[in-house]
Amino acid sequence: MEKLSELTDRQQDVRSNYLEITENIAKAAIRSGRKPEEVTLLAATKTVEPALINYAISLGLGHIGENKVQELLSKYDEYDLQHCDLQFIGHLQTNKVRQIVGKVSMIQSVDSFRLAKEINTQSEKQQRMTDILLEVNIGREPNKSGVMEEELEELLCQTAQLSRIRVRGLMTIPPICDKKSDVCKFFDKMYQLFIDISGKTLDNVSMDFLSMGMSDDYTEAILSGANMVRVGSKLFGARIYR
Ligand SMILES: *Cc1c(COP(=O)(O)O)cnc(C)c1O
Repeated sequence: MEKLSELTDRQQDVRSNYLEITENIAKAAIRSGRKPEEVTLLAATKTVEPALINYAISLGLGHIGENKVQELLSKYDEYDLQHCDLQFIGHLQTNKVRQIVGKVSMIQSVDSFRLAKEINTQSEKQQRMTDILLEVNIGREPNKSGVMEEELEELLCQTAQLSRIRVRGLMTIPPICDKKSDVCKFFDKMYQLFIDISGKTLDNVSMDFLSMGMSDDYTEAILSGANMVRVGSKLFGARIYR
């Protein structure tokens, strides 16, 4: 019985967090001249048990994202995917692509042509299309995923040639900044890239999503032009790694 009441407490936390986050998103959307429904909340669900994820889905959460293939596969059968779509948001190794194509609606973390080609190959095998976002290393951090901005256009043109892939936008994880004003510079830079690319018409490429902003800075990201935010700990509480 103890477990049940524990879960109920956590459900209550998730409920109030969800209401607060969706309200903040709506306010930030309106402040930046958009409608609340034009900004998508994707919950980053790493380390969160499926029962609690499904509780959030029951509140109206429509998008979840995992960042590890192994964890996604181990939880896959338990997600309520009737009412929610599942995306991949973490660093993806080429040899694991096969395991998630067909299970996720979008892969947000494509940063090389090699990876895009493998997603294309596996999608071809399954006779399906896979949506992707290109991940940009906007802070030019060494050892971090993402393409450099000057390499983005070439990658975009290459991936646009792949018939089983649709490029739907851009994603970034900016450097950790002490000041909000510093992280905003990176968000603004990303928005500029997003707008520049939107202005070019490339076959197979539609700039529908600019995915940036996490628990500590999703409001700033929206004010800078993000239309998808990825929120984990602010929704589910601090992560417990077992
Ligand atoms: C964990 C994660 C997030 C969310 O992080 P929080 O700070 O907990 O909101 C967003 N994006 C990616 C790729 C993640 O892995």
